[in-house]
Amino acid sequence: MKLIDLHADTLTALYYMNGEKLKDQEFLRDYPIANLAQNNFAIDLVKLRQADSLAQFFVLWLNLQGCERYQMSPWDLFIKQYWQLRQQLNSCSEEISFVTSLAELDIARAQNKLAGFACVEEGAFVDSMEQLGEAYRLGVRYITLVWNYETHIGVPSAIDQSRGLKAFGYEMVEAMQDLGMLVDVSHLSDRGVRDVLQLAKKPIIASHSNARALCNHTRNLPDELIVGIANNGGVIGVNCVPQFLDENSNIIRIQRLIEHIQYIYNLAGEDVLAIGNDFDGFKHLTPELDEIRTIADLPLVADVLLKSGFSSRQIDKIFHQNVLRVLGASIN
Ligand SMILES: [Zn+2]
Repeated sequence: MKLIDLHADTLTALYYMNGEKLKDQEFLRDYPIANLAQNNFAIDLVKLRQADSLAQFFVLWLNLQGCERYQMSPWDLFIKQYWQLRQQLNSCSEEISFVTSLAELDIARAQNKLAGFACVEEGAFVDSMEQLGEAYRLGVRYITLVWNYETHIGVPSAIDQSRGLKAFGYEMVEAMQDLGMLVDVSHLSDRGVRDVLQLAKKPIIASHSNARALCNHTRNLPDELIVGIANNGGVIGVNCVPQFLDENSNIIRIQRLIEHIQYIYNLAGEDVLAIGNDFDGFKHLTPELDEIRTIADLPLVADVLLKSGFSSRQIDKIFHQNVLRVLGASIN
C-alpha cells in the first residue's frame, strides 16, 4: 500500500543531532551523528522503503524560544535547516528526490525513487510577503501556520481556542493559496481553523491531528472542524502521538489509531483521511510496548484496517490518494 506521510520532524532531529543542539531536544541526546540514509530515528531511507513510501513531507520545526535563546532570527534558522535538508537529500539523490509538485513526484516515482517535500512548522519565520515568496521559491510546499506560541500570524490551540488568525495571518493564508502552498492548521486554535476555513479558496490540511471526541486534547479536532475540513476538500493526517491518541493510556496501539480513523470516517467520510504521523517529533512513553515505532510499521496499520472492514480502495485513499488529490488542487 503506497504511503504519503504528511508530517515528520526527522530533518529537524538530524539538524540538532549533527550539531545545533538545543536543550528542548533532550530526547535526542543519546543518538550518534546520523544521516537520512540510515539512522536510529523513526524515518530513514531503509524504513521508508519498508513502508512502501511514495512521498514523505519533511517538516522543518522552528523553535522560537530556541531562536531567542541563541539570538538567531526564525528566518535564519529556517535557511540553516533548509540547506541541511537539501544536503541530506542530495547525499542520497540516487534513492530520493527533492520534489515540489505532483509532476516532480511522478518523475521520481517513474525512476523508482522516493520523494521528499519540504515544509515548515511555525509560520512566524515569515514577516513579509517577500519572504513568503522566497520560501515558495525554495520549494516549501506547506507551512503549519502556528506552533505552540502566539505570533503575529495567530493563536495556537495550546493558548486560547477562542482567538484565531490575526491581520497578517489572513494576508498570509490568502497569499499561500495564491502561490500554491498548502495551509496547515494543526496546532492552530479552533477559532483560527474556522477563520482559515472561511477564507480558504483551496483545500487545506491538518497535517497531524486526531479526533477530540475520542481523546480530549487541545491539539485534536472537534467534530465541527473535522466536518469543516471535509467540506473544504482538505485532509486530516491521523497520527500515533500518545497524548493525541488516548487520554487513558501512554501505549501506542494500532487499534486505537484505527478507532480515530473509523470515527473521522463515520463523521466526515473517506475523502478527508490521511496519515501524518509526527515521527521524530514526539517521545515514545512506553517504547517496549508501542505497536508503532517507526514508519516501517505503517503497513501493519493497513493490515488491521483491512481486517476492520475498510476496502483496499479506501485504504489507498487514506494512505496516499487523498493527499495526491489535495496536492493537485492546491499546489499545482
Ligand atoms: Zn507539531
